[in-house]
Amino acid sequence: EPSHEFIFRSKLPDISIPNHLPLTDYIFQKFSGDGGGDSTATCLIDGATGRIFTFGDVQISLRRIAAGIHGLGICQRDTVMLLLPNSPEFALSFLAVAYLGAVSTTANPFYTESEIEKQAKASATKMIITKPCYVDKLTNLKNDGVLIVCVEDENDAVSVADGCVSFKELTQADETEFPKPEISPEDTVAMPYSSGTTGLPKGVMITHKGLVTSIAQKVDGENPNLNFTGDDVILCFLPMFHIYALDALMLSAMRTGAAILIVPRFELNLVMELIQRYKVTVVPVAPPVVLAFVKSPETERYDLSSVRMMLSGAATLKKELEDAVRLKFPSAIFGQGYGMTESGTVAKSLAFAKNPFKTKSGACGTVIRNAEMKVVDTITGVSLPYNKPGEICVRGDQLMKGYLNDPEATAITIDKDGWLHTGDIGFVDDDDEIFIVDRLKELIKFKGYQVAPAELEALLISHPYIDDAAVVAMKDEIADEVPVAYVVRSEGSQLTEDDVKSYVNKQVVHYKRIKMVFFIEAIPKAVSGKILRKELRAKLEAEYPK
Ligand code: AMP
Repeated sequence: EPSHEFIFRSKLPDISIPNHLPLTDYIFQKFSGDGGGDSTATCLIDGATGRIFTFGDVQISLRRIAAGIHGLGICQRDTVMLLLPNSPEFALSFLAVAYLGAVSTTANPFYTESEIEKQAKASATKMIITKPCYVDKLTNLKNDGVLIVCVEDENDAVSVADGCVSFKELTQADETEFPKPEISPEDTVAMPYSSGTTGLPKGVMITHKGLVTSIAQKVDGENPNLNFTGDDVILCFLPMFHIYALDALMLSAMRTGAAILIVPRFELNLVMELIQRYKVTVVPVAPPVVLAFVKSPETERYDLSSVRMMLSGAATLKKELEDAVRLKFPSAIFGQGYGMTESGTVAKSLAFAKNPFKTKSGACGTVIRNAEMKVVDTITGVSLPYNKPGEICVRGDQLMKGYLNDPEATAITIDKDGWLHTGDIGFVDDDDEIFIVDRLKELIKFKGYQVAPAELEALLISHPYIDDAAVVAMKDEIADEVPVAYVVRSEGSQLTEDDVKSYVNKQVVHYKRIKMVFFIEAIPKAVSGKILRKELRAKLEAEYPK
């Protein structure tokens, strides 16, 4: 490794992280021995029904569910898919699967049948935990022998579908029957899907060690008033199937003893009502939610004064928008976090700021502790000093172990020196604050949700009258980016824009839908066959300036 490397580190001292512990032991460490944890304190609040689970309830439930899942034949290292909206059952299932030493692969419950099947097959899913309303999409998988567990509705209006196991029954299993397995820190515990810097969505193998490290980097150790505390009530409407809510909210909150108010979906007025009712102190958001808060004339109608901290992540938040939300919540600290499914959290505003009110709008934080970050020239790979933009790279125990069954994609992402290449372009300013200015990778982000161009291109090319296709991002006021397609029709074909859209869009979840189709003669490609996306983006920019 060259000795002249510019490496950025946190100004906070490194801490000792107990990342030899299995995830659930780490999360509930306070409750073992004389850790001082209060089992009667609130852990989960179901915003939809008002149900409350204490830390004691959660720990007993997760062991019972683990025993129940085990009783159905799920063993250590098997994969279970969580196909659930935000709910206490999501949290309990995730923890139970972790306790068992098995792997949770998380998926958006709004995925179409074919999207679910692709992920279930690729991840060798043996069991799917879901709600009755999604069971219709699982018929083929059920016929192939995948076990389906159904979380029944509170009021039992919808009962468990035919041939499915009841979640309630799992929660009544005998936990004493189940011997605690030996878990290695290198075992995978979570496997969300992400397309990373290129290609199709891939299983991201996040280990016990990786996740424990990532959580500890954010909430362990001294960092006065910027960490979550046991007194916080943290709002969670961001999707728990995505790493941001799973790692930085749900698990981080549990580790600190904070309560999590779980909300199935974002609806501004409902959210404001809940903030007022439960005196919410921390509101994690994504840029579209910030926009909704800023634009709403109704924020005045609610008492939101309990909010002490707002955190945004998952996509670029423009400076103007951040300025506006800071004005709207003058007594709250506002900050951003920056990370990626594969990398854990890379940076967090407020990570060491002496005066958190003074962190700059538009910055996405300072590098997390117990980690290294560098910014490299995209052509030469040489590391760059302050104020020079380049690709952000990160190194530390928080990184993924790799992509499932894809050593090639893993090697492209994590180099031989252990640096993960994020595919994001950014720089570090004189105050150590990081600014993301561009994205080198193919990934499109619609309101923070991943859209992988390669996935849409594969669908397009499967059409009998499409010879070739490329998908790129178009800037959008509300969604930030939307996917648009360049399509080469086969000779003599009369295919229309609507034909193309309806063919693709019925096969994908709403945010992956193609918004515009442009027919062209040929897709610009390098000699290697790689699509020249830059050229297409420039063409789009010229024809549709924002
Ligand atoms: P995901 O794996 O879905 O979390 O997507 C990670 C990507 O989202 C990053 O590589 C960035 O491109 C983008 N992203 C996440 N947080 C931020 C942020 N605070 N500012 C700008 N882009 C972000």
